[in-house]
Amino acid sequence: MNLTPLAHSTELDIFQEVSEHEQVVFCNDNVSGLKAIIAIHDTTLGPALGGCRMYPYESTKEALDDVLRLSRGMTQKCAAADVDFGGGKAVIIGDPEKDKSADLFRAFGQFVESLNGRFYTGTDMGTTMDDFIHSLKETHCIVGVPKSYGGSGDSSVPTAEGVMNSLRAVNHVAFERSTLAGKTYAIQGLGKVGVKVALQLLEEGGDLFISDLQQTPIDQVRKRGMELGRSVQVVNGDDIYAVPADVFVPCARGALLHDESISSLKVKAIAGSANNQLKEERHGQTLHRKGILYAPDYIVNGGGLIQVADELYGGNEERVLAKTNAIYDALTEVFKQSELHNISTVDAANRMCERRIEERKKRNSFFTNRLRPKWNIRN
Ligand code: NAD
Repeated sequence: MNLTPLAHSTELDIFQEVSEHEQVVFCNDNVSGLKAIIAIHDTTLGPALGGCRMYPYESTKEALDDVLRLSRGMTQKCAAADVDFGGGKAVIIGDPEKDKSADLFRAFGQFVESLNGRFYTGTDMGTTMDDFIHSLKETHCIVGVPKSYGGSGDSSVPTAEGVMNSLRAVNHVAFERSTLAGKTYAIQGLGKVGVKVALQLLEEGGDLFISDLQQTPIDQVRKRGMELGRSVQVVNGDDIYAVPADVFVPCARGALLHDESISSLKVKAIAGSANNQLKEERHGQTLHRKGILYAPDYIVNGGGLIQVADELYGGNEERVLAKTNAIYDALTEVFKQSELHNISTVDAANRMCERRIEERKKRNSFFTNRLRPKWNIRN
């Protein structure tokens, strides 16, 4: 790929760019054509964990900005899910349709292995588990692998479970009821997570507005609604924002909550799996001022992360379920703090994460040397 070089790439500029991060690794392999960046943001809570994205970035700067931003978000997400991992992320610069090869992912695996247990990774946008089967030949630091390879399998199952727990927490606060029945939910996106949430909501007595770009999941949800005698109304595109529902459940793309969509919303609450739902951080305050109860996405969608993090201990479904259930408690606490201090739920969630990291910092200095390689910890 032809890349625009980093602007003013003096040593000082690079260190300014990465000043919030512990370690940033540029991975270059001329044989396979691999160009990747691994960013380790913060390992206070444990080794860094984060998916590996493959995208045809137009410049090295664009790739670097993305990996720095995404790895920062993972520190927060791990703290919110209360797992023993810190924030990290990797990006491979390339077109997922054209530039993939077994050698490229083996080379990537070698770079991950060279970090000696400081970074664990798996799929993200543009990569699939088939890609990481090649990396697995070079490193054990791959998570979310299929059950046939000793992993925990499809992460959309616990992610959907986390969304259901979030909806219960939301209903408890917004409608003072602990059941999901008798309310109407507007679901954007019926993919791996959204369809599971939709079917479960119907089972539990909810009515739905749904939208998706594909017809198959729409038909599946409609059919189940008819069988259960529940109302399922299909809407097109952005019309989903303005429907007269009680709760909005975004399970498709990010950056969907902005000035325009928020002004259309008629719901009392929002809880869904989509990543990075707020277009800008300030939109958390906009929702707060409008009196819409917003469940921060990185808490709601933590189920998948909880499952892959649990692989570190061998993987156990009961443990994963218990931790996924705790999403209810974490959100309840966030809603309480938001009301108590009259701050947005996003600010309350961020404070909770910062507090967890600060508390662990004090214990780390006593218990462990967190930079010690994993094989040393085992000995
Ligand atoms: P998916 O790709 O299986 O499904 C996304 C669905 O959204 C697709 O059916 C697609 O047709 C639909 N869609 C896309 N744009 C749309 C639009 N504008 N309007 C309506 N529908 C639209 O993805 P998924 O695994 O179900 O994940 C859904 C969201 O949750 C994503 O934002 C993802 O990053 C996030 N998430 C997923 C997991 C997981 O374990 N799968 C974990 C954490 C976060």
